[in-house]
Amino acid sequence: MRAAIIGGTGFDTLEGVHLRSELVQTPYGEVSLFRGEKEWEDIFFLPRHGTTHSIPPHRINYRANIKALHQLGVTHVLATLAVGSISAHLPPGSLVAVDQFLDFTQNRENTFFNGGKEGFAHTLMSYPYCPALRQRLIDLGTAMGLKISPKGTYVCTNGPRLETAAEIRMFSILGGDVVGMTGVPEAPLARELGLHYAALAYSINWAAGVESGKEITFIEEGLGALKKNILKLFLQTLQSSEFATCDCESARLTFHPPEEERA
Ligand SMILES: [Zn+2]
Repeated sequence: MRAAIIGGTGFDTLEGVHLRSELVQTPYGEVSLFRGEKEWEDIFFLPRHGTTHSIPPHRINYRANIKALHQLGVTHVLATLAVGSISAHLPPGSLVAVDQFLDFTQNRENTFFNGGKEGFAHTLMSYPYCPALRQRLIDLGTAMGLKISPKGTYVCTNGPRLETAAEIRMFSILGGDVVGMTGVPEAPLARELGLHYAALAYSINWAAGVESGKEITFIEEGLGALKKNILKLFLQTLQSSEFATCDCESARLTFHPPEEERA
């Protein structure tokens, strides 16, 4: 099985894993990523913000990233998401295997199927993350002694600005648990191409206004150990071969134009 890790903020490299850099050409642009070597040869690593952490959330070429992994034959993807905590039961430092998202992004290219020759697609999104991969991640994480919240709704804002306190209050009323800027359209694009994709959010601060009257402060303490554990867990999960069945490979319903219009 070929697998990939998409690293968000704080995950610009995979410590302890031999990697060599590679450029992949896709119809949507060039992608710079890493291929594992030696015992890691079936693992790819894609730093979402670029190899020098220079691409802001709203400028990430999500389509090129997911297409590149698909072209390389990757079938399973685990992503990290740095988030702010909205829910009181998920303080900074929490890990959440997100199971739903709310999409508040704007003007992002969010499909591979824009009509014409490719047709267009409606992709089932009731449960946007691969349930089998999520479960494996949660089980292995729990066995490692990590506390992972097995459910959580991820709110994706467009960024790059942070949210207002009123926006966070709204997200909370709507059922949002954590907030970030990069999880969408990455997850739905992966699902469009039939990839098994799951994401682990780790909270680095309280969202705006949750700690009333206080400015947002990003935690530093304990993050190093947390990141090491996430990496260990991801590698274990992706080297695992025991996955339950899921519907990821058949979630896309594609519609092609009638023959006469194709000519
Ligand atoms: Zn799946």
